[in-house]
Formats: sequence, structure tokens, C-alpha cells
Amino acid sequence: MKKLIIPKNIITVNEQNTILTNHAIEIEHNLITKIGEVSEFNLANYKDNIFNFPNLTLIPGFVQTHVHLCQTMFRGLAEDMELLDWLQKKIFPFENSHNKASLKLSAQLGIHELQKGGTTTILDMGTIRFEEEIFDELNKSKMRAIAGKCMMDINDLYPSFIESTEDSLKVSYELAKEFHNTAEGRIKYGFAPRFVLSCTEQLLKETKELMMDFPGSMYHTHSSENESEVEVVRQMHNMENIEYFSHIDILGDHTVLAHGIHVNEKEIGLLKSSQTRISHCPSSNLKLGSGIADIPRYLKENISVSLGADGAPCNNNLSQFTEMRLASLIQKPRYSPTEMDALTVFRLATIEGAKALNLQNEIGSVEVGKKADLVLLDLEKPNQTLIEENIYSTIIYSANSENVSEVMIDGEWVVIKGESVIYDENEIYKKGKTELTELLNRAKLN
Ligand SMILES: [Zn+2]
Repeated sequence: MKKLIIPKNIITVNEQNTILTNHAIEIEHNLITKIGEVSEFNLANYKDNIFNFPNLTLIPGFVQTHVHLCQTMFRGLAEDMELLDWLQKKIFPFENSHNKASLKLSAQLGIHELQKGGTTTILDMGTIRFEEEIFDELNKSKMRAIAGKCMMDINDLYPSFIESTEDSLKVSYELAKEFHNTAEGRIKYGFAPRFVLSCTEQLLKETKELMMDFPGSMYHTHSSENESEVEVVRQMHNMENIEYFSHIDILGDHTVLAHGIHVNEKEIGLLKSSQTRISHCPSSNLKLGSGIADIPRYLKENISVSLGADGAPCNNNLSQFTEMRLASLIQKPRYSPTEMDALTVFRLATIEGAKALNLQNEIGSVEVGKKADLVLLDLEKPNQTLIEENIYSTIIYSANSENVSEVMIDGEWVVIKGESVIYDENEIYKKGKTELTELLNRAKLN
């Protein structure tokens, strides 16, 4: 049965950044099949499937290219620390104490928050074990995702949180075989070696070879986030972080590097020539005091930049609105108020995220032939502009997750009138508390 959505206006994010008013969108199964003036449609053909939203603005779903669903539970438990300390004292012991039930709840809480904030696609890095729980939740929740277990075969910071090189590769391969391109292609595999400090060269290189067996999968890791981290990389390999990745041949248009803050001129050249993607996580970078990535420079060099919230304990929320606002504001004092304008940032949050994941033919804009991943915003609220002078600035500088009214993924509603269709909010919050209490007890014993 075809659906017809008639919103107040449509922010298409197509090549010309067209904004449409008095238009409707036809959806058949999971695809946008027609966009046209309302008068072009015979409403009798859609019967009970007409969704009239005269006060809502329709935008493409947000794409976040760096998330850790496994950490959602740890929000507020690792505060005011520097990266390596934060990992060693808190995040590694916590992740190491996950069991299947706690990981499931962490994923549920994360997906619930992301969807209610208008995020419809994520690139997720899991933890070492129980990745199948995350895939199960991605599947049930209708989330579009590229996800994979975290790979770590060295760990000097927290030695008990580790796996063998062989196991890491074998389990990743088996998971990719089981989950890549499932749910009609909505779910794909993303190989996720954590970062140089937790991976042998063999692991990093052989993971790239594994990835080649799964067309459409991604290589997802962290790089050049923090000065102490880069210093350890220099001691280990006598090279800068991205230079090292180039040396072992893992850069490329299927590689997403989270952060990319501490890089030199040569590395910028390597990112550009290899078409490697940078996932910019401004909240996380500020909270962990890691630094400010030179995003305007990357954009001038035509390097792919997209946005991500990173994990809940370094943010402390998972809202793309927060990342968009900060991505814009933090560059203005360094450059000028004209830098990182609202339209540029809105594109990073949508179509540029899709391009980073090589999904630009499927998602990232509202165009015929693309998947129906759509968000309707209520911008007629007191926290908003009274007159829509610039819709992009309204969204980037004023709006937040509270303005998200409806969310559709793959042609199905997952949020209606601001409420999740998938999860019982009170139930997952309550169950999450119980699971977290038990996890913290296990962490003490470990
Ligand atoms: Zn991260």
C-alpha cells in the first residue's frame, strides 16, 4: 500500500538544495516513488495512508558516522577525564563487564535516543563480545546501520580486555558472513579495529583483507584523537597515526577514521589522495579535551567529513542537533562567523554522512528512488524562530531532539508524535538501571 506524506515544506538536500512547499511525497514499500505538487496526486488512491502534516518540516534522516551503542549505559560514569585515563579506568573495565543482557539494554537505550533525535543511520563500533545482540536490536528496531564488533589484540592500558589476533579475525569474519547485507540491505557489516594502541599490525592489515570479501562493508577505526595517543603511536611505529595507516595500506574510500584532530600537512595530503573519510565528533572532542579538528581545512581539500556523537559517556547525549550546533560554533572563533554556515553543516549531517558510508544512492537526501528515511520536525514552537528566514539556521542553531515529531526508516514509522513505536521508554530505562547495577558489580569483581 502506497503512503502519501504532505508536509509543510520539504528540505530535499539535493544537489541544488531545493526547498519545496505545497508538495507531497509518495512512498511505496521502502522507497520514495514520487515527489510532486499536492494537486498532482489523486488522494483517493491512498485512502487511510495519507499523512497530513501542515505544520511540520520534512528533512532526510540524520546519518551519524561514529557511535558506540555498547557505551550508552555508561553515560555519566566517566566524567572530566582525558582519553587514555577515561579508557583505562572506566570504559575498558565497563565494556569488559558486559554480558548479553546488559549489552542488549545498552543498544536499546542508544537506538531509542538516536531515533527520537531523528538519526536513522549509524556507523557503530561494538565491544569485543556479544556483537550478535547489537545486530538483533538493529534488526528489530528498523535502524539502518553499518556495525561491527570492536577488535583488540593488544591492550597495555587494561590487559584483561583483549582477544587473540586469530579469534578477533575469525569472529569478525563469521559475524560479517551472518549479518552483512541483511534486513533487505538495511544492515551491513563494518569491521572495527579499535585504534592503533589496541591492534597489532597483523590485525589491522588482515582486517582490510577480510573487508574486501564483503563489498559494501566499511573499515571503522579511531585516529589522531589525542596528543598522548599520537605520542604512543610514534613510539610504537616511528610515524604519525595517519601516516602509519597509509604505510600499512588501510586508508581508502571504505575507511572511516573517527576524530582526525592531531594531523600534519603530509597526513592531510594522504587523507585527500586516498579519499579516506573523517567522522567529526565535536562534543566528544571538547569533553575529553582532545582538541578541535580543522574541519574547514578538510572541506577546502574536499576531504569527506561527516558527524557522529561518539559514545554517550563522552558527550553525554546522542543528538545530531548538538553535533551540528557545535561543529559550526567551535570553528567560528578560529576562522570567522561566516565559516561552517548552517547549510554546510546540515549537509555534513545528512548527505555527506551517506557519502562517507557509500550509501549516497540510497539515503541522505529526499529524492525519488531513495529509501524513505525521513524526519518531520515541529519548528513551530516557542524555542524556534517566529519567521523562517533561513530554515537551515533554524535547525542548526535553535532546534533540538524535542523538535522531532515523526521518524520513518525504510518506509516504516519508528517515531510518531515524538513517541517511539519500537520501545517502551519507561521499561528500557528501568531495566537498564538493573542491568547497569549488576554490570558495575561485575566490574568491581573483575
Ligand atoms: Zn569512539
